[in-house]
Amino acid sequence: MICPCGCNELLQMSLHQEGRPRWTFTYNPDKTGTLHPSVWRKVGCKSHFFFRKGRIHWSE
Ligand SMILES: [Zn+2]
Repeated sequence: MICPCGCNELLQMSLHQEGRPRWTFTYNPDKTGTLHPSVWRKVGCKSHFFFRKGRIHWSE
């Protein structure tokens, strides 16, 4: 996905069971998706956000 902060960086979240960090993507009954845990960029814009039910929720 493209970073939602607007910096246009391509973010890749690994869904593989092995290796870290990794994320789980679950489909909700309403056909949206939820990513767990949150995405926290250590470099660049250092965005920290949650992706729940197809929407971005910024961390405080
Ligand atoms: Zn960004």
